[in-house]
Amino acid sequence: MTKQVYKFGGSSLSSAKRYHAVANICQQLAYGDAIVVSAAGKTTDTLVRLWSCYHNQDHKGVGEVIALLKDHQCALVSELLGDKSEVYAHFIDDINAISQRAGCAELEQAWLLAHGELWSARLLAHYLNKQGVAATHFDSRKLFVVAQNNLKHQENTARCQALKSDQLNVVTGFIASDEVGNTVTLGRNGSDYSATLLGKYINASSVTIWTDTQGVYSTDPRKVEKAVKYNKISQQQAQQLARLGNPVLHAKTLTPLKDSDIKLVVRSSYDSHSDGTQVVANEQAKAKRFLTTLASVDVFQLTHNNKDSIRELSIILQHPLQPLEVEGNTLLLVPSQFGEQVASYYLQDAVLIESNVSGVAIVSEAGSESQLLESAKALLEKQSMTLRGAWSQNGFAILLGDQLLESDTLSLLHEELITAKQELAVIVAGIGNVGEVFLSQLNDQLARLNTLLPVKLVGLLRSSTSLLNGQGIELATASANFKNNAKASSPEQIIEFIKELDYGHKVVIDITASESFSKLYPEFALHDCHIISANKYAGTAELNWYENLRRLQTEKNLLWRYNTSVGAGLPINFALKDLQNSGDKITKISGVFSGTLSWLGANYSLDKKFSDLVEQARELGFTEPDPREDLSGRDVQRKLLILARELGLSLELDDIELSAWMPNELAEGSWQDALAKRELLDTFVEELALDAQREGNTLRYVAELDTTTSPITAKVGLKAVAPSAAVATLTPGDNIFVINSVWYADNALIIQGPGAGREVTAAGVHSDLYWLCHKLSE
Ligand code: ADP
Ligand code: ASP
Ligand code: MG
Repeated sequence: MTKQVYKFGGSSLSSAKRYHAVANICQQLAYGDAIVVSAAGKTTDTLVRLWSCYHNQDHKGVGEVIALLKDHQCALVSELLGDKSEVYAHFIDDINAISQRAGCAELEQAWLLAHGELWSARLLAHYLNKQGVAATHFDSRKLFVVAQNNLKHQENTARCQALKSDQLNVVTGFIASDEVGNTVTLGRNGSDYSATLLGKYINASSVTIWTDTQGVYSTDPRKVEKAVKYNKISQQQAQQLARLGNPVLHAKTLTPLKDSDIKLVVRSSYDSHSDGTQVVANEQAKAKRFLTTLASVDVFQLTHNNKDSIRELSIILQHPLQPLEVEGNTLLLVPSQFGEQVASYYLQDAVLIESNVSGVAIVSEAGSESQLLESAKALLEKQSMTLRGAWSQNGFAILLGDQLLESDTLSLLHEELITAKQELAVIVAGIGNVGEVFLSQLNDQLARLNTLLPVKLVGLLRSSTSLLNGQGIELATASANFKNNAKASSPEQIIEFIKELDYGHKVVIDITASESFSKLYPEFALHDCHIISANKYAGTAELNWYENLRRLQTEKNLLWRYNTSVGAGLPINFALKDLQNSGDKITKISGVFSGTLSWLGANYSLDKKFSDLVEQARELGFTEPDPREDLSGRDVQRKLLILARELGLSLELDDIELSAWMPNELAEGSWQDALAKRELLDTFVEELALDAQREGNTLRYVAELDTTTSPITAKVGLKAVAPSAAVATLTPGDNIFVINSVWYADNALIIQGPGAGREVTAAGVHSDLYWLCHKLSE
């Protein structure tokens, strides 16, 4: 059975709560799999501080840092296993050993730093045991041997056979040993590298790096709110990012995966259901754009271009170094902490030209780096940043100045250089009727959308067939293409297709009336897909499901538009949102929300039999094939629920009182069966109409929501209304929405017009799509 490697970074192990989440993920793994762990939280930073206090003979500092370490670890272990546990006692022994060595000047740096990972592995394995999962911890110094700065791959592969196939194997990241058993480290952030090395040694099928972001983003999502998560990035760009010091992947992570089929994925242990970012072969991902900050670097000019020396120096420093070829000179970018070591390595062969500068690097598709550099320069100068250096090279550009870039400047750069041109992939579901018109309108609309951002149609779906092409489907011939080439497809295949789409943005446009299709919305959201729906089912689904979907979309910054699910193209949802966003409070919404019921209401009179009118409407195509779907009022009930939820009300469908425009006896059997009992329908309507007439009123099928009553009034049914009322004077077939709010208290805001029809509904979907493109391009 193929094995998998999972690496949890410090950010995933920073507290007892995080350990718990990690253990939950581990519960799903198969025995034989390996888990590589980093030191918990910032433990390695603290150990580095301890080392520097020790090195500087700051005894007080040593004591203080040891106390800090103790507090953090003791709290973790106590909460997870208790302070009587074996792990707690072992930790206290370790801390005593560290103190003792520090006290008699026998501390060794790598040995000291190794403790962070040793503590994590031990704690996680025991915590898994406590949860009933068989797990053993391994000290990777027994698995990874390094000789003269080179890992002994053959020997290590043999050593890794020691991992157990009937347990989970929790392995320390970051550390290895030399040939005589002394501890060595693989460099800061080295656990990523440990994980891919282990993947290679045990011939794993995949390595998953679990961290605290949902994958690799266009820039640090903690600094830039609008950072875009990429589903796929190429190995080459991942490596470039790492060489520039970006923390999301360690620079050597990809080396062991060369010429192998091992999959590499970055995912979030904070949101284990989300897809992460796949790092794939260069030709399998489009080139992306990234911004990564550079903090405190020195720039050296080398007197010769000696690649071997740079390679050797990176090994010594355990840190990647980025050389730049500038007008025949080689410049070397080095974190300032290594400045002195670099100067003493090169001596007179390197001249320090900038010290302790900061800035930003842009990683991009080859060819656009110099233009990006110019734009970034102009923008940073406008922000009054004094530039100390700006260079571009194949696939990246670097700008350095005196200050670290703040989030706002980074966001500006990001907006101008990175997100402006993210492509949107469009999948249209439901291409009969409205869908067909939508597609033909899309052909004309595309030029307008493309001024906002590049839009590409990639999928057309019908109930059980689909035409899917990640490269894009030619719009002009899309319908014919679908007829000739659509294939049978399951929901799983569609989800897989959406998951794999390598686009900055994706949207599913649901023009179906399918409840089962609406059930896929959470999956779409999991795969970072926006949604536009004319379909009413998701908006009126059970509250718990609906709220979970909303939560997921909010967490992932995903947008959901559904303006056409109520009133087709009429801008009712827009109006409600707009009023609320401007500080108004909506108190009532009422009206006629169904074109069919509007037509029936306007055309019925006591000299007609209602069943004849219904038959006439059916023959004219104004009703559903079975008119009882209209007469039941269910559809109107759903529309009222969508609007109620738009106002922030947590209602279920059944909270809306519903009375049908027919007697209950007609609900059974087929429409033909119901017609056989048509006199029941006629009497039912006639009696109500007569009652209304006696009061000088007329009958309309009305939806009403009133938030000022207690409890809230929410109902749908026939109502006797004055003949002069707005709902009574309606053009047959039109919808009307009467909105009362604080601002529109006495004189209601009225939106009225055709609430159904292919053209207006398709146009309403386009309005949502335009809005989405506009939002995404902001
Ligand atoms: P771990 O502890 O899991 O190894 P790191 O702190 O080393 O995690 O790396 C993850 C951090 O990298 C994130 O919290 C994020 O702030 C930062 N980061 C910087 N650039 C990016 C980026 N482009 N995409 C994702 N994360 C990034
Ligand atoms: N704990 C080590 C560090 O902080 C290794 C790692 O986290 O990958 O650098
Ligand atoms: Mg890391």
